[in-house]
Amino acid sequence: MRPDILNPLFAEVTALKGIGPALAKPLDRLGLSRVVDVAFHLPTGWVDRLAREELDMADAGRVIAITLTAQSYRSSAGRGPTRVHATDALGNVVSLVYFGGNSGWAKKLLPVGEPRRVSGRLEMYGQDLQMVHPDYVLPLEEAGDTPEREAIYPLSEGMTSKRLGQLAAQAIERAPDLTEWIEPGLLAKQQWPAWREALARIHADPSDAMARERLAYDEIFANQLALMLVRQSSRARRGRALAGTGKLRDALRLPYELTGAQARTVREIEGDLAQPQPMLRLLQGDVGSGKTLVATLAMLVAVEAGAQAALLAPTEILARQHYESLRRTLAGLPVEVAVLTGRDKGKVREATLMGLAAGTIDILIGTHAIFQEAVAYKDLGLVVVDEQHRFGVAQRMMLQAKAKAAPHLLAMTATPIPRTLTLANYGEMDVSQLDEMPPGRQPIETRVISEDRLADVVDALGRHLSDEGQAYWVCPLVEESEKSDMAAAEARAETLRARFGDRVGLVHGKMKPAEKDAVMSAFSAGQLGVLVATTVIEVGVDVPNATLIVIEHADRFGLAQLHQLRGRVGRGSGKSNCLLIRGGSLSETSRARLALMRETTDGFRIAEEDLRLRGAGELLGTKQSGEAGFRLATPDMLMTLLPVATDDARLLIDRDGGLEGARGQAARTALYLFERDAGVALLRSG
Ligand code: ADP
Ligand code: MG
Repeated sequence: MRPDILNPLFAEVTALKGIGPALAKPLDRLGLSRVVDVAFHLPTGWVDRLAREELDMADAGRVIAITLTAQSYRSSAGRGPTRVHATDALGNVVSLVYFGGNSGWAKKLLPVGEPRRVSGRLEMYGQDLQMVHPDYVLPLEEAGDTPEREAIYPLSEGMTSKRLGQLAAQAIERAPDLTEWIEPGLLAKQQWPAWREALARIHADPSDAMARERLAYDEIFANQLALMLVRQSSRARRGRALAGTGKLRDALRLPYELTGAQARTVREIEGDLAQPQPMLRLLQGDVGSGKTLVATLAMLVAVEAGAQAALLAPTEILARQHYESLRRTLAGLPVEVAVLTGRDKGKVREATLMGLAAGTIDILIGTHAIFQEAVAYKDLGLVVVDEQHRFGVAQRMMLQAKAKAAPHLLAMTATPIPRTLTLANYGEMDVSQLDEMPPGRQPIETRVISEDRLADVVDALGRHLSDEGQAYWVCPLVEESEKSDMAAAEARAETLRARFGDRVGLVHGKMKPAEKDAVMSAFSAGQLGVLVATTVIEVGVDVPNATLIVIEHADRFGLAQLHQLRGRVGRGSGKSNCLLIRGGSLSETSRARLALMRETTDGFRIAEEDLRLRGAGELLGTKQSGEAGFRLATPDMLMTLLPVATDDARLLIDRDGGLEGARGQAARTALYLFERDAGVALLRSG
């Protein structure tokens, strides 16, 4: 249970005063649904207001505070702006502009002939000075209320920094004083303020580095502590040693040799499985490095030892694809493989459930459905989780807490993330790396093409198709909305169909699983030449004959995502091409990103660079970072604070593994505050 002391923070945001219907949407867009979200929505910068006695063109572009007197009003017809002509003490003129056709309000704020302290950004409008929607218009006796320094918040339409500042002030008022969880020596050395003070200070003065650092540290600390709780509880549980006989693996006929990295990794996994403590291992390997084979061999070890294995895939498509390819790989071996997804119902599902309970099924492939309540295994010895970045810390914890006898866990990710992030995302795991590609791969040639040459790209696609080639055509993320994604993809599929007819298929996230599967298998089977898709094809899909990928508006994708997408090609022995179509005007960063994609296919280099290009300002939200989902810690803070937080968390667990002492209790509160509390459940069950 969340400690009561945190309740005021976890109340709905509407508990704050002054939130009318007009603010509901902007708050929702910013993801601020509870008071705590507002408290942790930190300002990114500030403006300094210059106190001025007279209007001066030299101040154009700056935020000033000045005493002005309204002289006359001019409202344009219809919904045009209202202009209030006002003068300073010397008679210099400025127009104060109010959009939205609400002239009554402007007149009330600024009655003719009465001086007001006005504050806002001064601008040039032709030869004249103007100020659009002043931030403050106050009677002179209240002029002291205009803050000299004011925080700037990340905004969405309909929201202002001023409003957010007011809401934050209320949130801080509701924030309780919390018992300190940071180790006293560390706190003294860093000279950090207490948690609540840090929160108040950062909202009052966004330049307060100490306060910002403390809050970031708290978040990282809670994250690392949660991971270590998972590790501790896993280590404390009895697993079962799985010693493979080698029988099945020897009988396996592979068309190729294992790469050195695959062989090494399989040995590492074999070593783990032979221990009675459950394995917690992350297998990192770039797209195409051959993770599936490693997983297959690991599962065969489990089956040789008489246990069952389960492979969890992030999507229906991938689950089916793994199932098909595993059946092909294991053809002729005495191994029973089954598939189970949310789509399987009725008799088929019943049969699978019975096979699992009776132990006649050795390997189960599926989506999250394979861990539902009703699914009982006779003897589940190994769980493999493919494409780990869709399977968050919270889910890993749940898996740990749920399973009766702790199974060995192998997680696989194709997202080559920098070491820092690996620790933050998978700090509880041991790591194996597949740092070697299977031989004979031809490098993918990447080109960046401007969008006004789209017609050339379509021609190139035409030539590719008439050479019996297959291709992906990826449509961009538009405004983060699935609906518009879909529209863009549908429109593109239409234009391509006009030229290539029914050789063009379309998949997007809104399609029914069965429809998606049908299109995917038609593409796999070569019945479709072009697959137009949104990012649903990002992970795992394997069609070696597809050797061309076109990515529209490549500048709208993150580097890691582009890398994943590009990994869909270059999977066979044929030479592959990647065409990155870019928009007209590009920022420096986008330019650098695309240039890097052209230059290298090394996933780790791309990942490091991605983090660096994102720099200090950008947060590691859920999307970019895998699942750690930091909202206070920026990449640079993570680099410096993560090692410290990891040590501190480990020390605390070593001393007080049950988090029972005073500091332990305080740390529990931190886990709840940063919503890493799934780990607390493990304390009780462990
Ligand atoms: P990923 O790591 O992205 O999941 P896959 O496991 O899908 O990669 O493997 C990519 C391709 O490489 C597959 O077609 C697979 O058959 C092939 N492959 C895997 N291991 C080897 C190997 N040792 N030698 C040659 N080809 C391999
Ligand atoms: Mg894979």
